[in-house]
Amino acid sequence: MQVIAIDGPSGSGKSTVARAVAGQLGLSYLDTGAMYRSVAFAVLRRGLDPEDVEAVAKVARDVEISQGDDAVTVDGVDATVEIRGPAVTSAVSAVAANPEVRAELRSRQREWVRAHDGGVIEGRDIGTVVCPDADLKVYLTANLDVRAGRRHKEIEDLDYDRVAADLASRDTRDSSRDHSPLVMADDAVLIDTTDHSIDEVVAEVLRHL
Ligand code: C5P
Repeated sequence: MQVIAIDGPSGSGKSTVARAVAGQLGLSYLDTGAMYRSVAFAVLRRGLDPEDVEAVAKVARDVEISQGDDAVTVDGVDATVEIRGPAVTSAVSAVAANPEVRAELRSRQREWVRAHDGGVIEGRDIGTVVCPDADLKVYLTANLDVRAGRRHKEIEDLDYDRVAADLASRDTRDSSRDHSPLVMADDAVLIDTTDHSIDEVVAEVLRHL
């Protein structure tokens, strides 16, 4: 069983790099951010307040999330586009700070690793909390301008300044929360993707492996 944990802030290149590494090694790939986004989607769809700790915890326990190659289904509804939209993006950090949500998703993520006999798994707390025994831990980063530029390209209908401000505030919330904050594991390899192409970063990850 081989487990590769990839963590880092938004726009650092985690998803693209994790997918490519998984493809090259013939491993499965799990996007844990999509799971937190799926819970936020289910919370909003039920008309609940993302800050309502008890109600949100119950949603996390009950919600059915299914991730295909490119599609994400939440309680049987295709949520692929909406989980990346502004409403879910604004709500997700509050949902992800909820300790009961984290406990539920952590156990689903560990179950996924067992069921797939390892894989490439990306998020914020994979090397520190979810898979502390991973064979390789990678922490990706990039400067804020570059990260915001990458996100802006994906969501062209929002202006750049708004994207950069949202990203910075989400990073602050994710890094300063009490439970499983975004921090680099002591034994992770740090890769700054600011001036590197995807291929270069993928090659570096494979070299470390
Ligand atoms: O990676 P992505 O930007 O899609 O993640 C969305 C949000 O999910 C993050 O801002 C963070 O609040 C949360 N998250 C987390 N732990 C993870 C993955 C994502 O708290 N392992």
